[in-house]
This record gives sequence, C-alpha cells and structure tokens, in this order.
Amino acid sequence: MTTIKLHNTRTRGKEVLNPINPDDVRLYLCGPTVYDRAHLGNARPVVVFDVLYRLLRHVYGTDHVTYARNFTDVDDKINATALARKEAGAPGTLEELVQERTEETISWYLADMAELGALEPDHMPRATAYIPQMIAMIEELIAKGHAYADGAGHVLFSVKSYKDYGALSGRSVDDMIAGARVEVADNKRDPMDFVLWKPSTDELPGWDSPWGRGRPGWHIECSAMSHELFGDSFDIHGGGNDLMFPHHENEIAQSCCAHPEGDFAKIWLHNEMLQVEGKKMSKSLGNFFTVRDLLDQGYPGEVIRLVFLQTHYRKPMDWTDKKAKEAEATLRRWRALTTGINPAPAASVAVIDALSDDLNTAGALAELHKLASAETAADLLTSARLLGLLTDKMGTWSQGEDHDLSHHEKSLFDARQVAIETKDFAEVDRLKTALIAAGVEVRMSKTGVELVPGPSFDASKLDAI
Ligand code: AMP
Ligand code: ZN
Repeated sequence: MTTIKLHNTRTRGKEVLNPINPDDVRLYLCGPTVYDRAHLGNARPVVVFDVLYRLLRHVYGTDHVTYARNFTDVDDKINATALARKEAGAPGTLEELVQERTEETISWYLADMAELGALEPDHMPRATAYIPQMIAMIEELIAKGHAYADGAGHVLFSVKSYKDYGALSGRSVDDMIAGARVEVADNKRDPMDFVLWKPSTDELPGWDSPWGRGRPGWHIECSAMSHELFGDSFDIHGGGNDLMFPHHENEIAQSCCAHPEGDFAKIWLHNEMLQVEGKKMSKSLGNFFTVRDLLDQGYPGEVIRLVFLQTHYRKPMDWTDKKAKEAEATLRRWRALTTGINPAPAASVAVIDALSDDLNTAGALAELHKLASAETAADLLTSARLLGLLTDKMGTWSQGEDHDLSHHEKSLFDARQVAIETKDFAEVDRLKTALIAAGVEVRMSKTGVELVPGPSFDASKLDAI
C-alpha cells in the first residue's frame, strides 16, 4: 500500500499516516462562519483538503474515508448581518433573518466550492444542530474541574487546568498572552480562560441550558461535532494556520480534558495563507475578493484550482492574473490533448508518489506536464483527475470553444514551404501576426506547425485571415 507522509504541526515534522482504522480514515476540517460569501483565501483549505480526501480515497478505497467539514452558523457576525437587514426594514423576526442569512450563505458556499471541483464532504454538520452535545461536553468539563460558570450565564474553560495547553503551536502560555489580544474580563479567573457558553438576548438565537438561555462559544462547536461524528480519536484535523491559536489550541484543551482516554486528532495539518501584497487576505483587512467575483470575471473554477495547486499548501501564495493566464493556457492544451481519449486504467505512480509526500501538488503537476503529449494523453487524463482536474464536470468552460485550427495549420505550413523556395517570408509573417493577434500560440518546428488557442483566444479574429 502507498505510504502517505504528512507534516504534523504538533510534532513539527513529516509523519507516516498510520490510520487508527484503515477501513475508516477520518478527517475533519474547520469550515466557514456563514455570514457572507467565501473569499479566495477561504477556498484554499477547501482545495488542499479536497486533494487529501481524493488521495486517501485512492489509497484506502472510496468507502473507507470519512470527511467532515462544519458550518459555524452561530456567530456575532451572522447576527449583525441579520440586525442590519431588520433595521433596513426586512420582514420577519431577528431569528428568522439569522436563519435566512445562514441558509443563503451555505448555498453560495456549496455552489462556489463545487465550481472549484471540491467534492462534498461526507458530513457537513451545522453547529446549531449539535447544541445538546455541546451542553453535555461543557457539563463534563465542569464536572472534571476544567471549567466554571460565573453565575451570570457564562461558562469559561480554565486554561491552567490543562498542562499541555500551547503544545500544538509550541508556545508557552506567557508568550501567547503577550502575542494575542487576550480579553481580560472580571468573570475570568485567569486572562487566558476562554468562553464555552455565553448568554443570549431574547431576540437573538439562543438555547436553554443549565446556565440559562444562551449560545455556545466557537471552539466548543468543533470539539462537540467532531466527537459526535468521530469519537474520542480520529486521524487528521485541518484548517488554515491562522486557526492554530487560539481555535485549535482551545479545541485540543476541551476535547482532551473531556475525553482524556482519547488522542483527539493524531495529525494536525495547517495550510499557509493566501496573501495580497504580503498580507493575509481577510474580511477584516478589507483586502479580499470572493470566489464568486473571480468566477463572474470569467476565471473558470478549474483555472482557480490549478493556480492553488501550483503552490505547496505550507507556503504562502498570491493570486496573480499572470498565474491565472498560464493555468488557463495549460488547461486548454491538456483538454485539447485529451478530447475523445479514454482515461488510462491507473494514475501515474510518480503523481501518486508526489502527492503522498506531504501533498506535493507542484511536484504532481510537474509529472502531469511530462505526460502532456499525444502518446501519453490517456495517462495525463487519469492522473489529472486524481487531482480533480480535467473532469467532465469542470470542462464546460472550454467547450464550444473547441476550434479546429488544422486548416490554419495547413495554410501556414504550406506558406512556409513556398517561402523556403522563394525566400519571401511576407505571407508567413502575415499569417503568423494575424494568428497571434487572435490569441493563438504559434509553434513552428522543422516537421510541422502547431497552433494552440491561448488564454486571450478570439475565434472571431480568425475569420479575417
Ligand atoms: P473563517 O470563516 O474565517 O473561520 O475561515 C474559514 C477557513 O478559511 C479557515 O480554515 C481559515 O483558516 C481559512 N482562511 C481564512 N483566511 C485565509 C487565507 N487568507 N488564506 C488561506 N486560508 C484562509
Ligand atoms: Zn474548528
């Protein structure tokens, strides 16, 4: 069986994945807070985890991998959007408006991620459907001395009660206090303590609990949902590295204290950030564009996916128009090569080996480039599909533009044969200039002429030639 190595944040090195149960490899990815459209940065963990999911399904079998990605559908930001709608005169109660907002955001998210070729996870738990499990976990933490109620509707986790706090990111509690904006509040026994449960107003979403009507804190959601779906221990937990502290440290503290008999997640996988001029793309900095913005501007989802795959997930990356143009030209070439070709029965070993080495997608793409010739088009197709590229579903953008350039290839070839005799290359130059102006890549070799539509290909300009 293929050996998969992954970089584990917790041990700071590459580790061989030894699934707890190879018949059911389980992975959990922290999903979005559903208050607005996903920006391009939010799509990066989705694409990275999609490649991992596809690789695991390839190695362990389609029915032997379970992937869960949650929706955080209780949050102040969601409440704020509902409140703004209500103030603008929208009908319905605040609670109904909250629900309307989360429903529409989830449907946008699923549509946008599908355009990027991401398979839907097996489970997409919504926080609001797991409130009893969260309450039970908080009660367990209180009973075991890891949490306390303040008597005014809050429950807090006592960070000092968990000696391994900070082990994931390798920082001491003092460093973390210094580095983060830790909220000091009167009800906290220690500034690092964080909220498990907080009170809610009558108008906003809330649930009855032993501490009064309230709602969960963000971190307890993932601990409770992953436990309900996967039990005390599972294989891989992921998210962007911006979640390492405090979110993932807090998840570990909650889960390991509530269920000390388990390991929680064995491997922690973190993707680096998508950046804009050296800064993390984020809603709060305002330096973002959404996946939908790019799709509406005419960038096909498959092109966006290929741009992501060109950079290793543990390296920061930028989105540039140049990268998108190159990816589009590559995909056009690969799609032209594989049109009408039956896929080979098995993916290339070199591609699988690259992916198995801590998801080296750039290495896998280098192997695909080697397979991009007429003789190995069937292998190219199968291996590209392992990466979620060149699938039938993703190809609609390039359909209908499948222009037959063979007539122009012949004209150019013939013109050159004549020019070699007459030493007059004017007609060859005229044809080449016109083809390039129509966005066609012209490749001339001793034996022939190859014309490939480039990213700015415009068929209407060919008519004038
Ligand atoms: P959020 O809705 O902010 O919790 O983000 C959802 C997911 O997107 C999390 O896994 C984040 O780590 C990830 N994420 C947010 N911003 C970026 C970014 N600029 N680059 C890569 N991942 C990001
Ligand atoms: Zn989480």
